[in-house]
Amino acid sequence: MQKGHLYIVSAPSGAGKSSLISALLQQLPPGKARVSVSHTTRQPRPGEQHGTHYYFSGVDEFENLIAQGLFLEYANVFGNYYGTSIPMIEQNLAQGIDVFLDIDWQGAQQVRSKMPDCKSIFILPPSLQELERRLVGRGQDSAAVIAERMAKAISEMEHYHEYDYLIINDNFEDSVEEIKAILLAEKVSLKAQQQNHQLLIQQLLAKS
Ligand code: 5GP
Repeated sequence: MQKGHLYIVSAPSGAGKSSLISALLQQLPPGKARVSVSHTTRQPRPGEQHGTHYYFSGVDEFENLIAQGLFLEYANVFGNYYGTSIPMIEQNLAQGIDVFLDIDWQGAQQVRSKMPDCKSIFILPPSLQELERRLVGRGQDSAAVIAERMAKAISEMEHYHEYDYLIINDNFEDSVEEIKAILLAEKVSLKAQQQNHQLLIQQLLAKS
């Protein structure tokens, strides 16, 4: 059984990360890849469902889970806890399913140090103007709120250079293709091929 690959995807809010990940999953063979569902202490937004978008919990409950060692990584992201639980990741990877972690740069640093075989992808918007346009949303927020969102986005983007791959999300379809190319490159990387085709390689190199 080939093991799945672990991918970290980070981006500032407004770079289009969630839409890219869902388009990607739709285009991959069914059951080949999943997005990890994180735990968070932030309040659900309208339409968000427990167990689908996040596992929503209180701070005490989250801190209990930390104490129990449930998390592969966790971080305080702009005032709320977010964390990735270990069992789901391990089960999926063992079954050959690729797992995407939609996490911030702090979580990415922790995952890299614990699972060095993972690959990380950072998504940037095509310009500051476009980022601001996407963050303005429906025009219901004050200039101060929008300025705060921009500042948060810039502080996330400052970590772009810690990642293995960088996508500039200007044209959506091109970005999806670029991520698919990363997955393909990982699939045929020397390390993955050596792991998955050990027997073949031994047979090919056996001296008669
Ligand atoms: P949002 O509240 O908008 O869904 O997410 C805010 C930020 O938290 C995003 O950058 C998202 O990638 C990050 N995030 C979501 N889940 C996790 C997680 O499990 N761990 C970490 N470290 N960050 C997360």
